[in-house]
Amino acid sequence: MKNFKQYVEGNLEKSLKDCTKEEVYLALLQFTKEKSAALPQNNGKKKVYYISAEFLIGKLLSNNLINLGLYDEVKEVLSEAGHSLAEIEEIELEPSLGNGGLGRLAACFLDSIATLGLTGDGVGLNYHYGLFEQKFKDNQQDAVPNVWLTPESWLVPTETSYKVPFADFTLTSKMFDIDVLGYEQSTKNKLHLFDVDSIDESLVTSDSIEFDKTQIAKNLTLFLYPDDSDEAGHLLRIYQQYFMVSNGAQLLIDEALAKGSNLHDLAEYATVQINDTHPSMVIPELIRLLGERGIEFDEAVEIVSAMTAYTNHTILSEALEKWPLAYLEKVVPHLVPIIKELDARVKAKYEDPSVAIIDEQDRVHMAHMDIHYGYSVNGVAALHTDILKESELKNFYEIYPEKFNNKTNGITFRRWLMHANPELAKLLDETIGTEWRKDASKLEALKAFRHDAIVREKLDKIKRDNKRRLSVYLQEKQGITVNENSIFDIQIKRMHEYKRQQMNALYVIHKYLDIKSGNIPARPITIIFGGKAAPAYVIAQDVIHLILSLSELIANDPEVSPHLQVVMVENYNVTAATHLIPACNISEQISLASKEASGTGNMKFMLNGALTLGTEDGANVEIHELVGDDNIYIFGEKSNEVIAHYEKGDYNAGEFAKRDAIRPLVEFVKSDALLEVGNKERLERLYNELTTKDWFMTLLDLEDYIETKERMYRDFENRDEWNAKVVTNIAMAGFFSSDRTIEDYNRDIWKLN
Ligand SMILES: *Cc1c(COP(=O)(O)O)cnc(C)c1O
Repeated sequence: MKNFKQYVEGNLEKSLKDCTKEEVYLALLQFTKEKSAALPQNNGKKKVYYISAEFLIGKLLSNNLINLGLYDEVKEVLSEAGHSLAEIEEIELEPSLGNGGLGRLAACFLDSIATLGLTGDGVGLNYHYGLFEQKFKDNQQDAVPNVWLTPESWLVPTETSYKVPFADFTLTSKMFDIDVLGYEQSTKNKLHLFDVDSIDESLVTSDSIEFDKTQIAKNLTLFLYPDDSDEAGHLLRIYQQYFMVSNGAQLLIDEALAKGSNLHDLAEYATVQINDTHPSMVIPELIRLLGERGIEFDEAVEIVSAMTAYTNHTILSEALEKWPLAYLEKVVPHLVPIIKELDARVKAKYEDPSVAIIDEQDRVHMAHMDIHYGYSVNGVAALHTDILKESELKNFYEIYPEKFNNKTNGITFRRWLMHANPELAKLLDETIGTEWRKDASKLEALKAFRHDAIVREKLDKIKRDNKRRLSVYLQEKQGITVNENSIFDIQIKRMHEYKRQQMNALYVIHKYLDIKSGNIPARPITIIFGGKAAPAYVIAQDVIHLILSLSELIANDPEVSPHLQVVMVENYNVTAATHLIPACNISEQISLASKEASGTGNMKFMLNGALTLGTEDGANVEIHELVGDDNIYIFGEKSNEVIAHYEKGDYNAGEFAKRDAIRPLVEFVKSDALLEVGNKERLERLYNELTTKDWFMTLLDLEDYIETKERMYRDFENRDEWNAKVVTNIAMAGFFSSDRTIEDYNRDIWKLN
């Protein structure tokens, strides 16, 4: 194919120099799509179907160019014609087809599956408005539809279509595909997103995410995680889940048949990874479809059990789905007899009610179905898998020890290093050669440069440049100027009490009061937050409100603002993350120990030369083991101690709130000063939550957190020592490449050929 310049000039009949940014973007999109369309698909005998409610893929242009090996060339050609690739890629809209880590993991996995040349596709839904777009108004979150579907998106319509039966009607699906390219691979895979033609976008106005939840044919794929605070919302989620898995299951069977399967041997052609419990109905649906095709029930159960594997992502019990049987009766009555029979077989074998699929209140425990009738159950970090085996799923582990395994999460270095931080990638090439690009474990060679003054200095310069670029980005996006000479302390992730953004906010109060009393920090501090809160999650919204109110209070206080700045980034998403992470000095990973299954943000920051301030939770534990005590800042109670507090019920927030070091901080939440910029109802509710309940034990670790953070700020002033730690972190990050994770999945679970 012609190179990009000729392609554009040939198609548009004008020189690249004279094209507008929009024209260049559209031409580049078309060019890249044609290049990837020309690649053949992986076509191994056995395929993995990664079914997931979320795929947080981010913008695709740069990533696809990197994977096609065209990035540098295109960048240069554009720059010769007076265009900047960075500006061009701003035009692409980012879909919010995911909520957080779980969806981003699915996207990283697709990249790695393709990069390793494995045969594996993603299966999900084509949400027209994604999760939502976050806007700030009156220091509060406002949720509006995230528009991303344009006539020229990456989606390619296909002819594939299935009939999906529901209780009272049948929907006909339409499949859209997005090509998934591997890094410098000559083959590709697909992300299949299912939709229905009858969707009516006019059910939604541009300024609200509310809509009529009963008109399924019109609303099915409008939003990811529509409000489920009432029965109609619950039912809609079941409609969505069944639509997703029925399409996936029909596709899988068709593709296996086309490759010569006689269905008795289906497990030799397909394996399904169930990403969290949203796709769990794929098990009864596959059994049903095999039955329709003449396979006896017993054999169908056996076949399906040999081809479905479940990934658990959380121990928060409210997140493990339990659907009332009555709801399933209303939406998918044809699955109910199958689920009842699966449950009856479990109950005949095991008396223990805790392992039943249908409980005494007639609720269907989706995870239990996955564990009994799948062949693999994995956790997503070593600590998380241990907790599953030892407590959360102990009764299952005793029955099926051979099914349980750990697969520590990973991230794709193409997006999170090569694209996000090209200067660092270049320094690595110059220092240790380019092998790390194909084999992340080779990063370890950087360890030898821990005391190399030149490497340290270059790392320092790259960090400064990235801070400057972030400053420009924040200025353009939100009109905020940050001080590039300050220390950048960043916490970006979904808003949730267990992640404890409120603890960081209490630190801000501590620092504010400290500066007010005359203690000026050695260097200005910039604390950056970013994250969406589920619209129905009131306390998480209150925490956003506290952060925004603090930000305003501090910005308006000339005594404090030269030394402390608080920024809350609007609409945190993959694009924002790629700007924020390379500019970070301090990576906040402060969840209550035992609650964060893995985390992947922690890995992105480490790889980009930030030091972790964290609890012994999720993959922080593995980061700690890899870099050693001297290269990470760990604080807080350990997971076994926290689990013991829950068992004994002995954590008393009120007692902690009375301590001398804590009282002024929590009292400030409802102080007159804050109420001047904040909302009384929200701040008082948050105050009450923190001082009487505090289910995720913010105050338990607060003092240790403050001390550890202060120590970190001091250590930052000895830059040589700091950068030595940075070197060790980057050098040891190779383990967290999603290529390694996918090799593990394939070796232990999928066994693709
Ligand atoms: C990586 C990532 C996450 C996950 O972050 P955690 O800190 O692991 O919770 C969430 N959202 C986006 C946009 C990400 O890129």
